[in-house]
Amino acid sequence: MATTNTMVWRYIVLLLMIYTSSTDEITKLITISDSLMNSVPDYSRFFTVDELFNHSRVVAFTHPNLVKYQNVGYSRNGEAIPMLSIGNGSKSLLLYACPHPNEPIGSLLVDFLLDALFEHIDLLEAYTWHLLPCVDPDGTRLNEGWFSGPFTIRNYAQYFYRPRTEEQVEWTFPIVHKNYSWSTPSNETQALMNAIQFTQPDFVYGLHNSGFGGMYYYISQPLSDIFPELEQLPSTLGLFLAKGEAESPWVTQFAPAIFSPLSLRNAYDYYEKYTHIDPVSMMSGGGTSFDYLEEIGLNNTIFLMAELPYFQSPVVANDTIIPNRTERDVLLQGLDKDDESLFQCFN
Ligand SMILES: [Zn+2]
Repeated sequence: MATTNTMVWRYIVLLLMIYTSSTDEITKLITISDSLMNSVPDYSRFFTVDELFNHSRVVAFTHPNLVKYQNVGYSRNGEAIPMLSIGNGSKSLLLYACPHPNEPIGSLLVDFLLDALFEHIDLLEAYTWHLLPCVDPDGTRLNEGWFSGPFTIRNYAQYFYRPRTEEQVEWTFPIVHKNYSWSTPSNETQALMNAIQFTQPDFVYGLHNSGFGGMYYYISQPLSDIFPELEQLPSTLGLFLAKGEAESPWVTQFAPAIFSPLSLRNAYDYYEKYTHIDPVSMMSGGGTSFDYLEEIGLNNTIFLMAELPYFQSPVVANDTIIPNRTERDVLLQGLDKDDESLFQCFN
């Protein structure tokens, strides 16, 4: 595993870099960013939900004049989902950790910011930071078996938990698109909807991460000025940029490893255009948080996700085109390999 230290580093750089609007601000933010980077602890494990929530309460208690602590909803098991609002700047930033409960890297960023923000008053005057330390506490608790390592694929697989699509925070936002509709958000999604409505964010950072491969990004606007830096970031940290294709064929590629966000609308339209089957029959779950921002008219909000893996491979940085082999050939070969491994498992 790449060290969690560098993972958190990366999140913060991206956040500050993207949310700048003037040369003066950029210079100031780079200085702050450098200082923040130097103070990131060298995390050796992920925090439990209890640790994350306890830290949140301590921070709120310690800074009563600067922090507003509120529960934005309750999980399926009835656990409160807290959000801390810190600072009083005009720009509203919303960061939510663990939208997929097997993806806790972003919770380290939130945990770090809960202390670090108070050492940079500029950040509290320019922005209001709305932080959800863990939006899916039930699911995250079910992953805690691997949070302290050893960080091996076997241990990760053994204690891995991820809800099915129709129960995920990120895929059950209410949505109506052409002939498809979904109106039953999960409890945790409802909490995030409350947070979005309350904060009216200018910037939303969905703290996902991937499991394997290389690093890539989703961003709602083609901010091409920052794309070269995003592309170079992995190599400066000893990581690999995932130069392969997108996770889904219906996203737009802005630059290598930089894509438009996943969206139910785009998936539907893609199926409608390229298949002869009713798209409704191929859809499941609801909209994404990005869909929801559009649904409620927050079309100018910048939405970002930075996917980075626990386990990486240099192969993902190789974008050489193999002659005389189509994508179909490669996919079929992959299915054959799946069959082979299943055969070996059951015989
Ligand atoms: Zn995810």
